[in-house]
Amino acid sequence: MTDLTAQQDVQAGDEVGSTIESAPQAVMSWQETVAAYDPVLGLEVHVELGTATKMFCGCPTAFGAEPNSQVCPVCLGLPGSLPVVNEIGVESAIRIGLALNCTIAPWCRFARKNYFYPDMPKNFQTSQYDEPIAFDGWLDVDLDDGTVYRVLIERAHMEEDTGKSLHVGGATGRIHGAEFSLVDYNRAGIPLIEIVTKPMTGAGERAPEIARAYVTAVRDLLRALGVSDVKMEQGSLRCDANVSLRQRTKKPEAQADVAFGTRTETKNVNSLRSVERAVRYEMTRHAAILAAGGSILQETRHWHEDTGVTTSGREKSDAEDYRYFPEPDLVPIAPTVQLVERLRTTLPEPPAARRRRLQATWGFSDLEMRDVLNAGAVELIEATVAAGGTPAGARKWWSGEIARRANVEGRELADMGVTPLDVAGLDGLVQEGRLNDSMARQVLDGVLAGEGDPRAVADARGLALVSDDGALAAAVDLVLAANPQLVDKIRAGKVQAAGALIGQVMKAMTGQADAAKVRALILDRVAQ
Ligand code: ADP
Ligand code: MG
Ligand code: ZN
Repeated sequence: MTDLTAQQDVQAGDEVGSTIESAPQAVMSWQETVAAYDPVLGLEVHVELGTATKMFCGCPTAFGAEPNSQVCPVCLGLPGSLPVVNEIGVESAIRIGLALNCTIAPWCRFARKNYFYPDMPKNFQTSQYDEPIAFDGWLDVDLDDGTVYRVLIERAHMEEDTGKSLHVGGATGRIHGAEFSLVDYNRAGIPLIEIVTKPMTGAGERAPEIARAYVTAVRDLLRALGVSDVKMEQGSLRCDANVSLRQRTKKPEAQADVAFGTRTETKNVNSLRSVERAVRYEMTRHAAILAAGGSILQETRHWHEDTGVTTSGREKSDAEDYRYFPEPDLVPIAPTVQLVERLRTTLPEPPAARRRRLQATWGFSDLEMRDVLNAGAVELIEATVAAGGTPAGARKWWSGEIARRANVEGRELADMGVTPLDVAGLDGLVQEGRLNDSMARQVLDGVLAGEGDPRAVADARGLALVSDDGALAAAVDLVLAANPQLVDKIRAGKVQAAGALIGQVMKAMTGQADAAKVRALILDRVAQ
């Protein structure tokens, strides 16, 4: 069944009442869009907690299990079953709230969000509504140019995930055109935290970048908290992007007085890059509609990774249509001050502060640090340095050659089969002068092929720079004797001419020589 479970899953309710747009939507150019309109953004991030068991029952939460093998009467919503709240789930929610600089509610309740969910047979989701566990926070987000944008957090609340519907037999994996649908309830009841921002204004043309940077910052924070594996591709971190436009005012200070436009909510955007693309696309689509005198329909939209467009989902109901009411089967949550303060002591160093500290310790430039971050290599470099590698060497391997290979193979850096200890060893062999760059790459090949640790691979493959100075000197002398004109040129001050001679010596040594050493030897001989 793994091929089925790998298909794109669909969030509860997305397909209900959806309409199909026949023609591709018109969009305005990016330049015109940002010249004429001011965007307002609102981001909702759902994170699946990495608790061992579900939010309201004892079922396991492991990803990828045989469908419907991790279910019980509670998460199947069978009549008469009673939920019990997961303590670790609540503690994780409080820690997330604290890390987002929120106020923690001294008392709050769960609420039923009534809905027809084919993949949630209770027909309501246990969520929170007007009494979220955490509210009124903020998160500072680092942008590419080093500036910081403060995102205000509306609330972070607890809820449960839905099951997964699988639409089989159609071309798109969506319900339209499918022959039949399957439902897997393993995911139903997995704890979710929904983090909702206040409307973000003032982003202007940087709105797509800010959206991406915010989700990145939230992901890093959640990872640092250790509350989730935050894998967007597996759906443990999901983002819905709300976008609206309003007319741009001539005077920037007048912008705040203009009412917000109608928003659309693009659902389940499942990569960081897609967050940026989806926001940009929706802005240009709204702009085309508004410029033509049309109005925006408040609706959910689906993001299509392959074509880079959104299509209409369902018309979005207002909150009152969900008929929220307090959950009668669960006791209120009333965390004591002592509990909250104890949890506060477990918070990690904030990711942005940590990045700045590591960058300073490692002596990386801003550009180098950005490469490292983009490659997701911070922890690996930290571990490599702890294992005795140099920061520069660790960076070079993790965000260079290994990242390149991970990219080609579509794998995570950490799953490449090379450990920080291996990289420290590889770096050591280079530092001690035993390997040059191309030899070190061959050693990496061997490590990746499971031939052993770097030193064992270098030994087995006979990889080492020639340290026998006699053999090297002899090769240099032969090459110099064969190229008297080049030697004359160097003597006349054209030191660049040495390049051709170095090449010949390296060739004679079948690459097993240190090029810097060869160069020094050549210049030394010529000067005699
Ligand atoms: P829903 O139940 O519709 O998902 P939420 O309150 O969970 O509503 O999330 C709505 C998100 O949209 C919030 O991040 C909010 O700040 C944002 N938002 C509200 N109004 C607008 C608007 N006009 N334009 C853009 N974003 C908006
Ligand atoms: Mg929402
Ligand atoms: Zn269960």
